[in-house]
Amino acid sequence: MTLSERDLKVIWHPYTQMQTAAPPVGIVRGEGACLYDEEGKCYIDAISSWWVNIHGHAHPHIAAKVAEQLQKLEHVIFAGFTHQPAVELAERLLGIIPNNQRKVFYSDNGSTAVEVAIKMCLQYWYNRGGQRTKIIAFKNAYHGDTFGAMAVSARSAFTNAFEKLLFDVEFIELPDQDNIEDLKTQITALKNEMACFIFEPLILGSGGMLMYEAAYLDELIVHCHTENIFTIADEVFTGFGRTGKAFACDHLKHQPDIMCFSKGLTGGTMALGVTTCTQHIYDAFLSDDRLKTLFHGHSFTANPVACAAALASMDLFVEPSTAQNIQRITESHRRFALQLQEHQGVKTVRQTGTILAIEWETGSQTSYFSNLRDTLYQYFLNAGIILRPLGNVVYILPPYCITNEQLDYIYRTILQALKTL
Ligand SMILES: *Cc1c(COP(=O)(O)O)cnc(C)c1O
Repeated sequence: MTLSERDLKVIWHPYTQMQTAAPPVGIVRGEGACLYDEEGKCYIDAISSWWVNIHGHAHPHIAAKVAEQLQKLEHVIFAGFTHQPAVELAERLLGIIPNNQRKVFYSDNGSTAVEVAIKMCLQYWYNRGGQRTKIIAFKNAYHGDTFGAMAVSARSAFTNAFEKLLFDVEFIELPDQDNIEDLKTQITALKNEMACFIFEPLILGSGGMLMYEAAYLDELIVHCHTENIFTIADEVFTGFGRTGKAFACDHLKHQPDIMCFSKGLTGGTMALGVTTCTQHIYDAFLSDDRLKTLFHGHSFTANPVACAAALASMDLFVEPSTAQNIQRITESHRRFALQLQEHQGVKTVRQTGTILAIEWETGSQTSYFSNLRDTLYQYFLNAGIILRPLGNVVYILPPYCITNEQLDYIYRTILQALKTL
């Protein structure tokens, strides 16, 4: 039996309608931007395996560091104990993110990094005896699948079944030249209840790769600070080079109070989440009163092997070749985007750094569930490319080690799909 056949007997997959989905492709190994199935067919991983991989698959440096760590210390409870990989990772991470960030809180994925951020803000006000319990988020936001993260995400087909149980959030439009003053007025009107504003900086990923300008986000951050509303930058997707700079917040003049990281943090090797905050927020939890403790933690908080993977990934991330690759992909995307702009099958093309999003012209069918999405997905898979459209939006966000030949093949196949489908 193939892996795929055995899988179908015992496994329930995420975001998958098990009755109608095509059987999963069994992958046995990866190298660079390629994933190989049981027959040895290469699939170019054009989406970095759910946006997590940045240096390519099974990278030997990360593999060696993980193996080394496993033989030294695989895990230790992180309350009352600490270890070298966690300390070093916190030190090095604080050295490269905006310099108002002073403390690192570990968890184990992007959703939990968001949960922690939200709890920090809500409990800040609780600890100070205040009454701020509401949160501002963007329409079309996506911050994860746990209940708190879901609550601050767009209400959509993903959340329908749980809607009554999600707490109320004030959803605002993406800022632009026309609405920025209205948005500020909206925020000011609610300031006495508002604990924080959570956002995906520059690009709303799962919401459809929706992009907006740093200048208007800067204005919103400044305005929130004026009104004593904390700002949370969810860099789970945008962190570690995706947007062309190390972090999306590096495109801003003003700094958020809290930041969330996961996906690229370990180079896409292991599950790890990080929430960082300012000294000011941290200080609100210091007290003789034990009830002011941040009561949050996970069994695998700061797992040493995951921290070692993140450190190894950071070794690679700070090498000059990584920045060069990011720039190479950015420029290559830019040339392809220009070419696509003229194309009649394309509604819009959007780019932020290494992320290129192509909105297919469809007439009416645009939902996540449209047949076009499935047709495109299968078309690319047959061509040996993993692209996973969000509705009619095809996006490319490859590992930074992807070769020019592989990129060109992806572009050519997309042009072919535009002609054929
Ligand atoms: C993927 C994602 C999350 C959730 O991360 P998980 O590790 O999948 O829980 C949160 N925020 C953003 C912006 C994301 O893209």
